[in-house]
Amino acid sequence: MKPNYIGGAWLDGASARDNLNPSDLSDHIGHYAHADAAQAQQAIQAAARAQAGWAHSGIQLRASALDFIGAELLARQQELGTLLAREEGKTLAEAAGEVARAGHIFKFYAGEALRLRGDKLASVRPGVEVEVTREPVGVVGIITPWNFPMAIPAWKIAPALCHGNAVVFKPADLVPGSAWALAEIISRAGLPPGVFNLVMGRGSVVGQAIIEAPAVRAVSFTGSVETGRQLLLATAQRQAKVQLEMGGKNPLLILDDADLDTAVHCAVQGAYYSTGQRCTASSRFIVEKGIYPAFVRRTAEALAALRVGHALHADTQIGPVADAGQLAQNLDYVAIGRAEGARLVTGGERLSRETDGYFMRPALFADAEPSMRIAREEIFGPVACAIPADNYEHALAIANDTPFGLSAGICTGSLKHATHFKRHMQSGMVMVNVPTAGVDYHVPFGGTKGSSHGAREQGTHAAEFFTSVKTAYTMA
Ligand code: ADP
Repeated sequence: MKPNYIGGAWLDGASARDNLNPSDLSDHIGHYAHADAAQAQQAIQAAARAQAGWAHSGIQLRASALDFIGAELLARQQELGTLLAREEGKTLAEAAGEVARAGHIFKFYAGEALRLRGDKLASVRPGVEVEVTREPVGVVGIITPWNFPMAIPAWKIAPALCHGNAVVFKPADLVPGSAWALAEIISRAGLPPGVFNLVMGRGSVVGQAIIEAPAVRAVSFTGSVETGRQLLLATAQRQAKVQLEMGGKNPLLILDDADLDTAVHCAVQGAYYSTGQRCTASSRFIVEKGIYPAFVRRTAEALAALRVGHALHADTQIGPVADAGQLAQNLDYVAIGRAEGARLVTGGERLSRETDGYFMRPALFADAEPSMRIAREEIFGPVACAIPADNYEHALAIANDTPFGLSAGICTGSLKHATHFKRHMQSGMVMVNVPTAGVDYHVPFGGTKGSSHGAREQGTHAAEFFTSVKTAYTMA
């Protein structure tokens, strides 16, 4: 059994869970520890004991540890990418890219650790000086989803450690392998015992323990809307700081003056790569009437030509769906779309390959109405719909008519429309002539409306969540 890492020691769980490959269900990746509530408490207490020492640790120690972790991730990009592709199902190229991204994130925060700064101001009272500094927020609980098993943990753990917080990390049940490999590297980075803890286990057991523990002062969560809302309500009682990244129903607008090749590329890349399992994936193509027929035809052709298969095969472009439950949900939505009267142009069926896995042909619906469930609810799979629009203003109104607001894109040659879109689209991220998914690691990530809650992630903005501000007055 691959054990949990608690207080600087490797500990077996109360039980274990088998990790399966969604490209090949006969491929068992390993047994991973499953903590019970008592072991989760043990991790929280270990972090609580380590917190004060880590808060006052030297910045060179933090910078060196983060740099060590980043360097090893980059050096082992292919090996860890293979593990990630094997357990999550994204292609090897995507998985290796994700590991590199995680490495760069740790390197970025190694640099940030050396740039912790504050402000010194004059006071309105003569002779008094004012200092504004940032302090660690305290023990941080980190709860992550299965779709980016390396990058999302990295973009939460690295800034948490950089800013002097002890961490209790609970990865998604489906992808313990990447989390364990990351934890194993972190365990050799020179951190004091208890500063970083890995607790694998069920959300309803380990996640719940983290949410309810008074010692956990902040929780950073990425996952479903339902769990995020539960978490927010449960932590409100004790006023813990919370950062939530949840769902999306991200629109991609295609105007008549768009370059058709760019539009098709943005649609196929942004909606279907990583098997559509990205919270920033486009799932609504809102298309001006003039370009609509050509866009639907060309996108359907491109989708039909995509090679769907085993994530580790070199020529695969779209890997399997991550698990049986997600595949069932995707197929249900295909049936719902048909029943609602949208036109299924291509895909939507389960595929068989030489290995037994959760393969699915990417699906495109056309002539969808904005009110249909397939146009309103997050599917989280390779399923998207095209909605015709009369003009730019109509398209923007449809795009904004959603409870979500994570990412949104527009394909256009018009500076006027692109500029208007950047100002009026209600989302945390806007993309002009680039896919809605695929973001840089050194700038803020996050959404508006129902997609997110709390401070932004990544880049220097991460300091907002992982620190608390102190204002000091001194009469010299
Ligand atoms: P997804 O399945 O899309 O990843 P979930 O919200 O189900 O979304 O899971 C995201 C993370 O939240 C996972 O690590 C999961 O184990 C955890 N989780 C699920 N239920 C709870 C809960 N009740 N309390 C805390 N964490 C939970």
